[in-house]
Amino acid sequence: MNQFSDKQLYQLCKKYGTNALMWRRKFTGLLPEVNRRRLYEKRGFSSIFEFAKKLCGLSEKQVRLALNLNERFKDKPALKGLLTSGEVSVNKLTRVTSVATPEDEEFWAEKVQQLSKSALETFVKDVKNENQNGLYKPQIEVKSLPGQTLNLDSDVEEELLELQGKGVDVNELLREFLEKRRQEIAQEKEELVAEMGVVPAKSRYIPVKIRRHLQKEHGDMCTIAGCRKSAREIHHTQRFALASNHNPKYLAPVCREHHAIAHAIDVKVQAKKHL
Ligand SMILES: [Zn+2]
Ligand SMILES: [Zn+2]
Repeated sequence: MNQFSDKQLYQLCKKYGTNALMWRRKFTGLLPEVNRRRLYEKRGFSSIFEFAKKLCGLSEKQVRLALNLNERFKDKPALKGLLTSGEVSVNKLTRVTSVATPEDEEFWAEKVQQLSKSALETFVKDVKNENQNGLYKPQIEVKSLPGQTLNLDSDVEEELLELQGKGVDVNELLREFLEKRRQEIAQEKEELVAEMGVVPAKSRYIPVKIRRHLQKEHGDMCTIAGCRKSAREIHHTQRFALASNHNPKYLAPVCREHHAIAHAIDVKVQAKKHL
C-alpha cells in the first residue's frame, strides 16, 4: 500500500466502496424473496434480521425498510423491479413512496434513477407542494419570502422615519424607487440582449457581464419560487442546443437540486446536457 500515491489510494477506496454498495443493494433486493420462502429458517437463522446481519452486515432498520418497500410496491412493478434487482438503494426508493401511484410509478422509477438523493428529495417536496413553477417550467419568478422582516440599517430607518414625520408618503417613495430599479434592470437586459443575446454564443460559458446582471436582478438565491437554497448554477430555460445564445431573458439562476430536476423533467434537454 505504501507505494500508492494519495490519488491512487483514493481511487482504490472509491472503487471498492462503489462495488461494496452495489453488492449490498443487490443483497437487500433479495430479502423480500428470502422472507417469502422463510429461507432464513431453513438455513438455521433465528430471523431474517440475523440472516441479513450475518451475511451482509445489514441493520435491522435496513431490512425492515426493504420489506416495507416491497409491500408498498405491490401494485408498482417498475419500482418493485428497481428494489428487487438492487438497481436503486432502499434509502432512495423510500423518498418516492409518499408520491408514487400505480398510474405514475413508471415516471418515478425513471426519476429515482436520474436524480441524486438530494435532488429527488427536493423534487418530491415540490410535487407535494404542487409547486408547478418549480416543476414544469423553471422560470424567472418573483419570490415571496413569508415570515421575513426587513433588516434596515439605523441610518436608513431614521431617514425614513424623519420623512414620514414630515408627512412624506414613504411607501410611495419606495414604490418609486422599486419601479426605477425594475426599469433599470429591464433596460440593462435589453442592452445585453442587443449586444450578445441574439448572436450565437461561441461557448456555453455564460459571460461575466450576464452573470452580474442576473445577480443584480435575482440576488443569490435559487429563482424557483419557494426555494431557499443559494443559486449555484445557471439554467437555460430555452434549450441552449436550440437557441445557442445566452439571452438573459431565458437564464435562471438555480440551486443544484432544481437544476438537476429541470433537466430530468425535460428528457430532450437531458440528452444534451449543459451547465
Ligand atoms: Zn441547465
Ligand atoms: Zn432551488
